[in-house]
Amino acid sequence: MTADELRESLLMNPKNGLTLLSAQEREEMERYCLRYREFIDACKTEREATAWAVKKAEALGYKPFQPGMAIQPGDKIYYNNRDKAIALAVVGSKSLAEGVNICAAHVDSPRMDLKPNPLYEDGEIAYFKTHYYGGIKKYQWPTIPLALHGVVYRKDGTVLTITIGEDDNDPVLMVSDLLIHLSGDQMQKTLAKGITGEQLNVILGTEPLDGEGSDLVKLNIMKLLNEKYGLIESDFQSAELTMVPAGRCREVGLDRSLLAAYGHDDRVCAYAELDALFALETPDKTAVCILADKEEIGSVGISGMQSQFFERFIDGLCAAQGVKLADCFANSFCLSADVSNAYDPNFPEVSDKRNNSCLNYGVAICKYTGSRGKSGASDASAEAMGHVRTTLNNAGVIWQLATLGKVDQGGGGTVAAYMANRNIVTVDAGVPVLSMHAPIELVAKLDCYETMLACKAIYLA
Ligand code: MN
Ligand code: MN
Repeated sequence: MTADELRESLLMNPKNGLTLLSAQEREEMERYCLRYREFIDACKTEREATAWAVKKAEALGYKPFQPGMAIQPGDKIYYNNRDKAIALAVVGSKSLAEGVNICAAHVDSPRMDLKPNPLYEDGEIAYFKTHYYGGIKKYQWPTIPLALHGVVYRKDGTVLTITIGEDDNDPVLMVSDLLIHLSGDQMQKTLAKGITGEQLNVILGTEPLDGEGSDLVKLNIMKLLNEKYGLIESDFQSAELTMVPAGRCREVGLDRSLLAAYGHDDRVCAYAELDALFALETPDKTAVCILADKEEIGSVGISGMQSQFFERFIDGLCAAQGVKLADCFANSFCLSADVSNAYDPNFPEVSDKRNNSCLNYGVAICKYTGSRGKSGASDASAEAMGHVRTTLNNAGVIWQLATLGKVDQGGGGTVAAYMANRNIVTVDAGVPVLSMHAPIELVAKLDCYETMLACKAIYLA
């Protein structure tokens, strides 16, 4: 054999996915991305993503989970976990004793939450005090348009949903930064310290109420909030309000091959799971889609992936077939669908190029995450990787392998470890992202589309 023939038969030869798609596949990719853009524009918080999924699921005939309910193959069921996370299932023709096929993503993203006592005035400017949520580079958040999203549990017990800053006619809010002319000291600080957490104060207004006494700007803001929403200051004590980047998803590049949006991590995978699930008829094994909260702070709490809400849901389905939950878990598979870091030629020093995901090379399969000697990783076995490799190849999915940066450069985690702790075989996979955790993140359309196809293949495995 010639060297060319040997190279062809023995070595890997990865290709840019955009060179592999047929014209029809390209059209499907574009249609898929339009659907995704609608979702990402409507869902900037875990609550909004959960509400979106519930509404869409109900329209498609999904029924709310009830303990003790009977189930039949083809039944579509969802479990809304307190409006902040959701699990959905399409019941398969096989027994739950043979396991379920799970895709698990998260729908929370880094942002700035309001403190419980947020409203104050300083220098005749009214502000909200915030406490950032998840891992952010604080210097990235001043001087960009921000929107207020969330809910308030009012004194009278009614719950109010608020969104300010997304409609073109809405005002936006903003954090200020120091002018360069006076930044001599600030510019000597590290990026980590140039803007501090306590400087992430959001400007609300500057007009004083007509009257006597102090804090007339703050009082005017509270008056506006009262007139529009019936709020009083103590209502902030029972609220979940957050500041996120304002605005919609946009195409990026003269070739329009990328999408820019807030919170691709991890709603780009959450939507891939949902879109694939919603297209299913009756699968062999029961297909389960999870959109979890609190991944960005360790998957903790009642709405995080470590919560027993997941056991309650699957155990409820198992009970309908007289199957033990432990037997179902032992035979189940989970694709932990979360984003990876796309190789960035601007910062080549942090990556091992041979083992990093790249834009346009498809869904990135990650054997392990973690940091410093794989600490904290759910290190997928050869068998688990083999299952994914075979399943995706058989389905014609464009995929690549990924690790998160160079050894000892840093690291990260996903929900994978918490699924694997349940005795469920788990592999990480997701969309490569540029500028992950920045206010606006970048993904390639092709990778979004292939991740949806990967989820579909896993549901049907
Ligand atoms: Mn993530
Ligand atoms: Mn993240």
